[in-house]
Amino acid sequence: MDFEAFQVEKTEAGTVHRVITRSTDDLPVGDVLVRVLHSSVNYKDALSARGMPGVTRNYPHTPGIDAAGVVVESSDTAFTAGDEVIVIGFDLGMDTDGGYGQYIRVPAGWVTPLPTGLSVRDSMVLGTAGLTAGLCVQKLLQMGAVPEDGPVLVSGATGGVGSVAVSLLSHLGFEVVASTGKSSVDIYLKNLGASDVIDRECLAEDNPRPMLKPLFAHAVDTVGGVPLANIIKQLDYGGSVAICGLVASADLPTSVLPFILRNVNVLGVDSVELPIAQKTALWQRLSSEWQLDLSSTVGEVGLDGLTEVLDQILAGQVTGRTLVTHQD
Ligand code: NDP
Repeated sequence: MDFEAFQVEKTEAGTVHRVITRSTDDLPVGDVLVRVLHSSVNYKDALSARGMPGVTRNYPHTPGIDAAGVVVESSDTAFTAGDEVIVIGFDLGMDTDGGYGQYIRVPAGWVTPLPTGLSVRDSMVLGTAGLTAGLCVQKLLQMGAVPEDGPVLVSGATGGVGSVAVSLLSHLGFEVVASTGKSSVDIYLKNLGASDVIDRECLAEDNPRPMLKPLFAHAVDTVGGVPLANIIKQLDYGGSVAICGLVASADLPTSVLPFILRNVNVLGVDSVELPIAQKTALWQRLSSEWQLDLSSTVGEVGLDGLTEVLDQILAGQVTGRTLVTHQD
């Protein structure tokens, strides 16, 4: 079968993007062929689309770390034609053709049945960003975080992970402080449930002091670097920060003092290699007691609008989530 796909080529002058016609015969070997109805735009997709070797080594390539749609054929008895499914993480969209094509072929072990209560579309409104926000919040809860502890900071709050984290924490009754570098987003963040919005400059100073006045009970950090170091220095005694991102920096310039004097916890979060059973359990949670109204966060593009959004997300200019919708 022929299908449309967004393809990235690497040239000496940089990366070139095109919407091309491909054949399912050219997709990688795998157990499950899926007709993709929706994908989404994540920060990592932009890195792949701009030739970042740490994400994608082999070009030409079709990115898209998220995909949801309908099974066309499966050699694994766990799935049959017509099943609605979600595929995120593992190697999808990295060195395996991803959700920016109308078809993907993947191992059965990467596939989650779409949970009851979630549409294919809404699963991609969440996408990797939503699942990651869910993982961050789940880790805080596993550490015993409760709303009575006090305010929870979310950095990169208008981004994909940040927006879902603000919404989910608020849904669970936490007081949320949203840190953002954007102006005029107070209403957006407060509609998602933030009680307070702070300028990310408040977290940007490279302060040599090992600890600062405690301001937050817990935090979800999507940016890393100096802002994360400052969050750690400002956590209450026994507080936790779930960390998943590096848009500011992959460095963490801090000392051991907040950990050994304030008993604070850094909780690492990875959505990519998370075992499929845990991904499936979290999707079920996000489709039931953690179901969110994210309609105010969603933009939508087709394959021809992708380049612009991918460049905007790399520049930190996207607010919320961008759904990718394939034509019929
Ligand atoms: P987005 O681009 O949607 O959001 C990132 C946000 O961070 C921006 O919107 C902006 O928010 C803020 N930001 C951007 N640049 C800077 C900067 N230089 N300094 C401080 N803040 C900045 O990305 P995602 O939400 O998709 O991903 C966020 C991070 O999480 C990425 O690093 C991504 O790779 C990582 N990630 C990790 C996963 C994992 O499994 N560990 C899974 C998913 C994502 P604002 O303007 O509001 O400050």
